[in-house]
Amino acid sequence: MISVEDAFQRLAEQVTALPGQRTDLSDAVGRVLVENVASDVDSPPHRKSVMDGFAVRSDDLLQGALSPENVDNGNRRLKVIETIVAGAWPQFALAAGEAARIMTGAPLPETADAVVMIEDTRQEKVDGQDWVIVETESVPPGKHLMEQASNFSKGDIVLQAGHRIRPADIGLLAEVGASSFFTGSRPTVAVLPTGDELVGFEQQPGVGQIRNSNGPMLVAMAKQMGLPVTDLGIGRDMQSDLASKIQAGLMQDVLILSGGVSAGLMDLVPRMLSDAGVEEIFHQVAIKPGKPIWFGVQRGAHRCVVFGLPGNPVSSLVGFHLFVRTAIRQMESDPNPLPPRLAAVLASPHETRGDRPTYWPGRWVINDSIVRSVEPLIWRGSSDLLALGLADGLIHFPRETNLHQAGAEVQFFPFLR
Ligand code: AMP
Ligand code: MG
Repeated sequence: MISVEDAFQRLAEQVTALPGQRTDLSDAVGRVLVENVASDVDSPPHRKSVMDGFAVRSDDLLQGALSPENVDNGNRRLKVIETIVAGAWPQFALAAGEAARIMTGAPLPETADAVVMIEDTRQEKVDGQDWVIVETESVPPGKHLMEQASNFSKGDIVLQAGHRIRPADIGLLAEVGASSFFTGSRPTVAVLPTGDELVGFEQQPGVGQIRNSNGPMLVAMAKQMGLPVTDLGIGRDMQSDLASKIQAGLMQDVLILSGGVSAGLMDLVPRMLSDAGVEEIFHQVAIKPGKPIWFGVQRGAHRCVVFGLPGNPVSSLVGFHLFVRTAIRQMESDPNPLPPRLAAVLASPHETRGDRPTYWPGRWVINDSIVRSVEPLIWRGSSDLLALGLADGLIHFPRETNLHQAGAEVQFFPFLR
């Protein structure tokens, strides 16, 4: 039996990134960049207005700067020489006493250096000429505009290799013209729950039977990561059935089995995997729940990483959350493949049993404190999925002690949302 840390270490040694691939922007969300992406434009590409209003020369509006025709009953008024909408280009530079009507996003005329927002103006027409009366006192230079390239410049790297692409990044990549780029590949996954006692979830279990909850759950966990999944259906605890379904699963990049990895009479999975040419890397990790977990690699022309998760549903879930996901992230070229963990404070005391580190379902306690606190849920063990419905993640209880005081600092492993 190895430690959790050793298990992660062996994954790091054994699981290699899949070859990268050129990916279109429309298919990129959730993937990991394996190259830096640079912009092919300045952002913004020109000096632009950020308000609907009037482009002006701020000096014009200083006390006493205006010519008599620009002063009317004590109001400062400017001659409106054109209207500039977003997407258009100004025709004229502003001369003294002139303004241009301008819309948000439109480029500023030359010599304009500020925008007065429409709410601070009145407009009038005299003998066919448009005038704008500026009603605000102060119009400092630079008001309500953005300089060209004030966000970033053409040639700047906007996203680095190793970044996992989120929807906001898609917006950025679109802005900089990155229609395709190199990303890590997404592994294909096969899921094979095993057990003679299992029936499909659509069936009423007979005597001695239970519904297969791991199969749909593990498929869902892979789908939540955006991966293509093959559901191999229920494998029976007999060599011929397991052998053929394992063969089918080994065609994918990741094969996840559940059940049949403990020491029972019908626990055939480790031997069947060895017979299929999968090299065992570890079997049993000092962890609760999920100790019997099995991990191996099929080498050769097609490489497949194989996890045999213990049959109890929460054991399967914990095994996926900690180890399967880490392996998948490595295959995707994620430089931070380990499950995210947050320091939190235990809201209520808790007692664990045994001498293995325990991952216990817990939930956030929402309060006004700036300290994140988590609360262990009532949980009856590795077959009890009920508590998971309330859980936000897993609280890690180290093995050094079984008595965990309220206020103790713990690591919290949040579930993906
Ligand atoms: P095993 O690891 O095969 O010894 O199974 C351990 C426990 O998990 C047994 O009580 C099984 O009935 C249960 N179990 C195994 N596979 C599943 C599954 N796919 N869905 C729900 N429970 C399962
Ligand atoms: Mg079994």
